[in-house]
Amino acid sequence: MTAERTAPVELAREVRADFPILATDLDGKRPVYLDNAATTHVPRQVLDAVHAYYSNDNSNVGRGVHALGMRATERYLRARERIRAFLNAAAAEEVVITKSTTEAVNLVAQGFGSQVVSAGDEVLISGLEHHSNLLPWRRLCERTGAVLKVAAVDEHGEPSPDSFREAITGRTRLVAVAHVSNVQGTVSPVREIAAEAHGRGIVVVVDGAQAVAHRSVDVRDLDADFYCFSAHKMYGPQGIGVLYGKAEHLARLEPVLVGGGMAPLASYDGPSLIAPPPMRFEAGSPNVAGMVGLAAAMDYLDDLGRDAVGEHDAALAARAVEGLRALDGVTVYGAQAPRGGIVSFNVDGVHPHDVGSHLDAFGIATRTGVHCASPFVDSLGLVGSVRASFGLYNTVAEVELLIDSVRTAEKGFW
Ligand code: PLP
Repeated sequence: MTAERTAPVELAREVRADFPILATDLDGKRPVYLDNAATTHVPRQVLDAVHAYYSNDNSNVGRGVHALGMRATERYLRARERIRAFLNAAAAEEVVITKSTTEAVNLVAQGFGSQVVSAGDEVLISGLEHHSNLLPWRRLCERTGAVLKVAAVDEHGEPSPDSFREAITGRTRLVAVAHVSNVQGTVSPVREIAAEAHGRGIVVVVDGAQAVAHRSVDVRDLDADFYCFSAHKMYGPQGIGVLYGKAEHLARLEPVLVGGGMAPLASYDGPSLIAPPPMRFEAGSPNVAGMVGLAAAMDYLDDLGRDAVGEHDAALAARAVEGLRALDGVTVYGAQAPRGGIVSFNVDGVHPHDVGSHLDAFGIATRTGVHCASPFVDSLGLVGSVRASFGLYNTVAEVELLIDSVRTAEKGFW
C-alpha cells in the first residue's frame, strides 16, 4: 500500500477490510461512518499492536528492574520516538503525552500562559475555534486580567493571515489557532501566522486535532511553538493525546499535575527532585498501551502516505460539496478549496438534528449541532449544521448515498 499505487478515491477499497467495525451490523445495515472528525475507527494493525503489548510486554515503566518492566519501558521509549519522527520534532524530549488535545491546550494555558501573560496583555485566537482551544484561554485571561481577542474570519468563515496581522498588538503574548477547523474543514495559514507572530516575539499554539489525520504535519516547518492533537482522531486509541513543545518553551512550562513519575525523589518539607521534560509533565503511570497504539496508527498512516490520505479525504469532501450544492434548499458552508475532509451543510427549514436522524435511518453517521464551536457557528448565523467528515475508509458510493439521502430529507420534511 503506497501513495504511488493509490489514486485518491481508490484508497478506501484497499483499507476497508482493516477496520472490523465497518462490518458490524446496525439493525440490518452496515455503518456509513461520516463522523470521523468526532472520532475515527481503529484498524486491525492498531488493535493488534495494543493486544500484543498487553499480551507480551505489559508492566509499569521506568520503575521496575524486572524483565517485563524493561520491556514495557522499551516500548514506551520507542513509541515516544515514533511520535517525534511523525511530527519531525527535533528531539523526543519535546513530545509530552497527555490524554487529549483538550488536556494539552489546558497544560499550555495553565503552565505556560500563566507565566507569560499578565493583566492588560492579550491572548489572540481565531474566530473559528473549538471550545477546547477557547475556554482554556478564556480562563487564563479571567485569572490574569488579560484580554481575549478574536481574529475575525471572513464572510465564509475563513481566517486569513491579514486578520491575525491586524489583530496583533504590542500587548499580544500568545496566539492560539486551529490548524484545520472542525466545523468546515478550513485550513488555517499556520506558517504565515507563526512567521508574523515570531517577528513580534509572540508564542504560537496550534490545535492540530483535525489536521494530523489529513496532512503531513512537520512542526519545524510550521514553526509551531506548541502543537496539540489526539490519537482518537487519527485512527489511534481513545484517551491519549500529544503536546509537542519546543525545548526552550518546555523548559519554562510549569507542570499542572505533580506526583509519581515526574518526581524521582520527594520530601515533606525539603526539596524534591523533579524530572526534566517531558517526564516533568507526565505525573502518574503513563498510558503505555495508548502510546503503542498511537505509534501503530502513525505507522499505518505513513504506510499509506499521509498526502495520499489527505487527497482521498479532500476528494470525497469536494464531491460532497458539489453534490450537496446541486440540491435545492441545501446550503454548504465555507468557500475554501481544497479543504480538509469536512463538509458542513443545512437543509432549508429543517433542523440539523432532524436531518441527522433522517440520515441515521440509512445507517449514515454525521454530527449535528454546534460542533463544540458555538461562537463560530453563532457568527455564521446558524443554530447548528450537519457535518459530514470523511476518513480513509470512506468510499465514493458512501458520498453518493449521503447526497441521495439528503435529497430525500429535503423532500420528506416539508
Ligand atoms: N480541537 C478541535 C479542532 C477538535 O475538533 C476537537 C475535537 O473534536 C478538539 C480540539 C478536542 O479534542 P479532544 O476531545 O480529543 O480533546
